Amino acid sequence: MERHLKLLISLQEFDSLILEKQLIINGVPSKTSEAEVPLEKAQAVLDKMKQRHESLGKKKRDKERELDDINEKIMKLKARTAEIKTNKEYQAHLKEIESAEKERHALEDEILIVMEEIDVSSKEMRLEEARLKSEKVTLEVFREKLKGEVLEAEKELLTIREERTKIVDVIDREIYSLYMSLIESGNGIAVAEAKEGVCQGCNMNIPPQLFVEIKSNEEILQCPQCHRILYYKSDS
Ligand SMILES: [Zn+2]
Repeated sequence: MERHLKLLISLQEFDSLILEKQLIINGVPSKTSEAEVPLEKAQAVLDKMKQRHESLGKKKRDKERELDDINEKIMKLKARTAEIKTNKEYQAHLKEIESAEKERHALEDEILIVMEEIDVSSKEMRLEEARLKSEKVTLEVFREKLKGEVLEAEKELLTIREERTKIVDVIDREIYSLYMSLIESGNGIAVAEAKEGVCQGCNMNIPPQLFVEIKSNEEILQCPQCHRILYYKSDS
């Protein structure tokens, strides 16, 4: 194989690897924010539960205050019983006590219901807190995994770039600038395989005569369509 063609193939291999490693590194922010979604959702659910829990607590305190008031009212009513003179007044007085006691019963029932609701809400909150905790652990594990992948990619990039420099140092300047301009125009692919008469860079058919020449791998030849440098990989 022609020396420069061989160098170009290696250069392309290194550049494809560099691109691949950079994709891993650049993908970290979006992967992280995607992984944060379940945690954010769990947090939002918990916040809502806490709000509801607080309002239930307030409802309970309000009802208890009302109950205190009604108890005081009943106590005062009963204390006044001895002062009542007529039977008519007495009947009215008893009715007032009775209705206050009814009110007290209703309040006591309401307080019981609220207490049950608070109990359920506490249990739900504990479950959600556990879920949030586990989401946090999952996220932390994922972050560590990404961190490891980035460190690995950065380490590999150093080695790849070193190897790449060795090639750049010995390659013909003109060929290198052609390669670099093709990298730019070809979305990171400047050197492509010619396989079964087809350019693997753009999938277009290569004229038969050109394909014959490419097969010998003795010249730097370009695809007439995408201009990428073509080479032939023999089965052996
Ligand atoms: Zn092509």
